[in-house]
Amino acid sequence: MILSEKKPSWLRRRMGDSGSLSEVLSTVRENQLHTVCGEALCPNQLECFGRGTATFLLLGPGCTRRCTFCAVDKSTVHPPDSDEPVHTARAVARLGLKFCVLTMVTRDDLPDGGAGHIAQTVEAVRRSCPGLGVELLISDLKGNWQALEKILNTLPDVLNHNLETVPRLYPTVRPQADYQQSLKLLSLAAGHVPPLVTKSGIMLGLGEKKEEVLRVMDDLREAGCRILTLGQYLAPSHRHHPIFRYLPPEEFCEYEKEARARGFSGVASAPLVRSSYQAEQLFLSARR
Ligand code: SF4
Repeated sequence: MILSEKKPSWLRRRMGDSGSLSEVLSTVRENQLHTVCGEALCPNQLECFGRGTATFLLLGPGCTRRCTFCAVDKSTVHPPDSDEPVHTARAVARLGLKFCVLTMVTRDDLPDGGAGHIAQTVEAVRRSCPGLGVELLISDLKGNWQALEKILNTLPDVLNHNLETVPRLYPTVRPQADYQQSLKLLSLAAGHVPPLVTKSGIMLGLGEKKEEVLRVMDDLREAGCRILTLGQYLAPSHRHHPIFRYLPPEEFCEYEKEARARGFSGVASAPLVRSSYQAEQLFLSARR
């Protein structure tokens, strides 16, 4: 059953405090940066920007993959902008962030998948903001573990890599990704010396069954993952993967209980949760 009716009430966003909204937008614009918030049409933009935070999208805006749920531009990719690390550091400093999330598109066209550029950006933001908390939401680097090492050696406070959905749906949702490869990436990060806090996220409402979601939770725990996000899939357009079902908030609460019972120390599970939503709070709760 494919759903096309009106969004249920729990998915309608109230306008948050737009306090620092314009500050975030001008900072992003003036530093020629991209945010995944804007590129992926995140429903929480106003709330997060209003709180003065954003997730910077590196190596974009174009991606070399064709995930059917994702609004990010897939038409073309450009050579990495060598000024992006410094521009990102400047933006983070200007926004006075205490914790920042850096994400990336997948760049299968680059020998190291862009890992070197990500590492440079982490070093730049850390230089300009000593003590800043850094979460990296990375691609699967096509399973290039040497490239992954470059990123892990920057010792991000949180290493995030989304599984996005259950393995049965990969061919239609993430056709160029590999479920086991993504799990391996997370276990390498958790097993890094020193060990890193790892995080992953899945969207619900794409046609997955409950037992499949619980199986994914078990796989993630086996891979040493400590933080989990679960949110409702919302189709960016009719050209994207259809929404199969709107899950009511109670089901997200059920999943949160299941996740905590399996030992995840940081869990965000609600219809409008996205992978970097309230990232700092989740990190702090996982550290406790
Ligand atoms: S790899 Fe990431 S940015 Fe690229 S299409 Fe897939 S979800 Fe979107």
